[in-house]
Amino acid sequence: MSWANMSKGWVVEKMKDIVYKCLNEKCDTIFHGINKDGICCPVCENPVVPIMEFKYYCSNDVPTYNDLKQSIRTVHISPYRGTEEEIMNHLIDAFNLFAKLGQTHPSSLSDFVNGIHKCQDAIICRIVQRDYPEQFPIKCLKDGAKHEIS
Ligand SMILES: [Zn+2]
Repeated sequence: MSWANMSKGWVVEKMKDIVYKCLNEKCDTIFHGINKDGICCPVCENPVVPIMEFKYYCSNDVPTYNDLKQSIRTVHISPYRGTEEEIMNHLIDAFNLFAKLGQTHPSSLSDFVNGIHKCQDAIICRIVQRDYPEQFPIKCLKDGAKHEIS
């Protein structure tokens, strides 16, 4: 085998799509991706072991390394869950609409802003409760209970 062919073979070997399993038992993530040196778990960054080539794996329902990495980035970028961001945006819309009405009292705009800030604080509180559950425990209603105003 010529040097050129050996070199080609090495490249093909390196480009194999491999299924990996995270060695962190609490994480236990399985993903696949192109074989590369020093690959670690995209979720917890612990070492991983190769299981087999993806084309021989029993399930196609395995996320790629890049998909997991991207979803982790998204989670870290946005502090919001569910409709929280949508609510925050509606609060800004509400303020902008109110401001367009024109003031009928010298303190009406600041009163409205104070109300908006209380609503925003309620959402921010949810974020803080998720990030620091020990210091700010979630004191939720029974499962499924919701408040609605009409
Ligand atoms: Zn992991």
